[in-house]
Amino acid sequence: MSGILVFCRDCGKQVASTQTKDGRCLDCQVRRSVADLREEHARLWRKRERYRSQNANMEQIGRQIARTEDRIAQRIKELVPNDREAVEHLRRELEAARGQRYTIKGV
Ligand SMILES: [Zn+2]
Repeated sequence: MSGILVFCRDCGKQVASTQTKDGRCLDCQVRRSVADLREEHARLWRKRERYRSQNANMEQIGRQIARTEDRIAQRIKELVPNDREAVEHLRRELEAARGQRYTIKGV
């Protein structure tokens, strides 16, 4: 890939200017675009934990979580045309989303 190298304004990584948008690398674009859905996912995930401890019906909340993950996947696909890269981004975002409950719980 030829072109000018620039520093991403969010994470400082050096990337080709052709891969940036508003001065941000693809990773940061993805992270920002799914930020609200990740919050939503974390909220549902905590709710499900609560349901589990109460032996409540978790079917509906499970569907909501699946739907949120679908929407995250959808947004990533819009930003990342390469399928394999998109999957990789999705995996990372979901791991981060599912991991969030631990940091919140630990506070
Ligand atoms: Zn970045």
